[in-house]
Order: sequence, then C-alpha cells, then structure tokens
Amino acid sequence: MDLTLTAEEEAFRDELRAWLEENHPGPSPTGGDQAQFEFERKWQKVLHAGGWAGISWPKEYGGRGATLIEQAIASEEMARAKVPRPANVLGLVMGGPVVIAHGDEEQKERFLDPILSGDEIWCQGFSEPESGSDLASLKTKAVKSNGGWKVTGQKVWTTFAHEAKWCMLLARTDPDVPKHKGLTYFICDMEQDAVEVRPLRQITGESEFNELFIEDAEIPDENVIGGVGNGWNVAITTLMHERAGLGASAALQLGIALDELAELASERGRADDPIIRDKLARLRIGIEGLRLGAMRALTETMKVGIPGPEGSVAKLQWSSANQGLTELAVEVGGVELLEKDNLWAYRFLRARANSIEGGTTEILKNIVAERVLGLPKLR
Ligand SMILES: Cc1cc2nc3c(=O)[nH]c(=O)nc-3n(C[C@H](O)[C@H](O)[C@H](O)COP(=O)(O)OP(=O)(O)OC[C@H]3O[C@@H](n4cnc5c(N)ncnc54)[C@H](O)[C@@H]3O)c2cc1C
Repeated sequence: MDLTLTAEEEAFRDELRAWLEENHPGPSPTGGDQAQFEFERKWQKVLHAGGWAGISWPKEYGGRGATLIEQAIASEEMARAKVPRPANVLGLVMGGPVVIAHGDEEQKERFLDPILSGDEIWCQGFSEPESGSDLASLKTKAVKSNGGWKVTGQKVWTTFAHEAKWCMLLARTDPDVPKHKGLTYFICDMEQDAVEVRPLRQITGESEFNELFIEDAEIPDENVIGGVGNGWNVAITTLMHERAGLGASAALQLGIALDELAELASERGRADDPIIRDKLARLRIGIEGLRLGAMRALTETMKVGIPGPEGSVAKLQWSSANQGLTELAVEVGGVELLEKDNLWAYRFLRARANSIEGGTTEILKNIVAERVLGLPKLR
C-alpha cells in the first residue's frame, strides 16, 4: 500500500475540488424527506452532467473509469465539500456494479444509464421478516410462468422502495436444493400493483425504509441477473460493493464530525476535562485506523478486481466510531442537545442503526474472524 498520491491522482483531486466549488448545490432544503430526496436527485443530475456520477464505473458504461483510489479520493472530496449524497446511491454503489459484473450486454444497455442519471432509482429487496443475517433462508418465492416469473413474498427494511423504479430482489426459485443454491437474483419493476410499499417510521422520525408485500409480481426472464440458481453469488457481489462503498468516505466524514465535537466541548467548557480529552483522542485514533484500513482494502480490491471481505472491517470500525462519537456529543452537550431539529440529536438517533444496517456487528465480526484473519470456523 502506497499512501502518496501520484501526479495523476493529485490532478484528479484538484479537478474535482474545483468542480465542487463551482457546482456546490448549497444547503439542504427544509421541508422533510421528499424535499430532501428531490434535492439529492437534482444533485445527482448535476453530477451526471459533469461526468462525476459512477466515477469508478468503466467509461464504456458511462462512468469515468477512475481507479478505486481515485474513487476514494472523490468520496473524500465530496465529504470535505459537504455536498449531499446522490439520490440513487443504492443503484450507483450496488445495482450498477452488479449489472456490470454479472449482467449481459442487453441488461447493461437497458439499466446502466438511468442509474447514472438518477432517472430510475434502485432499492435492495434482500431482508425479510425472518431472514436478515441468515439471508439464504429467505422465503420469497419465484415460480416460472410464461416467459417469466411470478414472485410472491414479503421484504422488509427496503430503503428507498417508495422512490424506486427497480428492486434488486432475491427470491427462492428452487426449494429442493440446499438453501444457498436455490436463489435467483432478479430486477423487479416496482411500478406494478402486485408490489405494495408500506413506509416504516424510524426513531429519527424519517421514513427512509419500507415493508414490501409482493403478490404474484411479474418479472420477465430478461431481468434475471447472473443466471437462475446463481442468486447467492450475485448477492455476495452486491454486499461486498455495499461495504466497500461505505468505507471510503467514512473516515473523512467522521473526522469533520469529530472536529465539530471538539468545538462543542470547548463551547461547553469541557475541553480540559481529561476524561473527555481521552475519549476524543481514542475516537481520533480509531478514525485514523479506519482511514488506513480502508486504503488497504482498496489496494487489495485493485489487485483482485472485486471488493473482498476487508470492507467488513471498515464497516465495523465506522459503526463503532460513529456511535461512540454521537454518544460522546450527548455526554458533552447534555439533554438539550437532544431537542427536536438539533443536528446532533438526529446524528445520535440515526447512528443506532449503524450496527445493524449493511450487516450486524456480530455477523461482521464472524466474517472478519473467518475470512480476513483466517481463524477456525465454529460450524
Ligand atoms: C437503516 C437500515 C436500512 C436497511 N436497508 C436495507 C435495504 O435497503 N435492503 C435490505 O434488504 N435490508 C436492509 N436492511 C436490513 C439489514 O440488512 C438487516 O436488518 C440486517 O441484516 C440484520 O437482519 P435482522 O434485522 O433480521 O436481524 P437478525 O438477523 O434477526 O439478528 C438479530 C440479532 O442476532 C444477531 N445474530 C444473528 N445471527 C447471528 C449469528 N450467526 N452469530 C451471532 N449473532 C447473530 C445479530 O447480530 C443481531 O444482533 C436495513 C437495516 C437498517 C437498520
């Protein structure tokens, strides 16, 4: 791993930094979830027009063909500039890379461009009420019917399903083979009556995710990705991309939040408190560890071509640092920090989900133990 930027990487960073200064969309709007989502969709269009959506996607599919190190630089620059995330984040980070890795040419032609432009929003329909960590046990079934599939089942925690045109849907196509082998990965059209989307309200007051009730939804054969019965392999690619994508800019965002927390400690006269100082220092060290680990994971990905289990380490470090940081903010700021509309209150409440979303802490620890450290498996 070489942490020095090459001349090309520096030029790339400077170009993006200048572009962000010129094109910054300004502060987030007030007016709730929908206004925020439209703001993020508009921002994605600006990114797309400037050639900054799908930065690491190959040029032939409309991306910028950047290396993963450049992708990490870009994520850092965007975090530094405090621009919003693009609306179609799940399509950009997971849907597109999966279609590029496992899709055929027609699927690439059909699906990739509207992901980049944000015209078609994607969601991820993996988790079910009784299948989260043990994803391969999922029960949603797909049955062959003329020229396609009929899908029936229930999904839960489906982020952005209420905005989505397409869902990366994992369903059981063969109940008679071992559970990992009977799954198929579909791209399901959300715009049909057979798919009912019911919002779930979170502790923050937002409704970012949903339940899906699916009754005989129709999916044509051409929307199977990676072949019938190969869904588990395709799903693993999705999850690796999800975790790899999370790690890249997390350290910078956490670093900015930690600076704000240090300022808060000064304002509240707690900056000289040795216990608070110790906690701030531990967080700073953890964030630096996350940054270096994320760079190491990227180096490994560049060597082998696809993200590996190292992304799970970054996801673990990020969730623990963000929860520790927001808890410390509440300790420093006291209960008044928890008032409605206080940004710290939002961050504190939203951070509770960090150790569940994208794989729980316990599951990630198993992955790190077995697949990164090579410790013996329990089962
Ligand atoms: C904000 C948010 C957004 C999400 N967005 C999506 C989305 O868009 N699409 C989607 O498909 N899913 C989404 N999820 C779901 C998420 O992936 C699951 O919640 C997660 O995988 C855990 O599954 P579960 O909730 O069923 O918990 P369970 O799997 O039931 O786990 C419950 C507890 O048991 C522990 N546990 C389970 N198995 C083991 C084991 N083998 N060893 C040790 N401990 C274990 C877990 O760590 C956890 O503490 C989202 C979740 C959140 C919080």
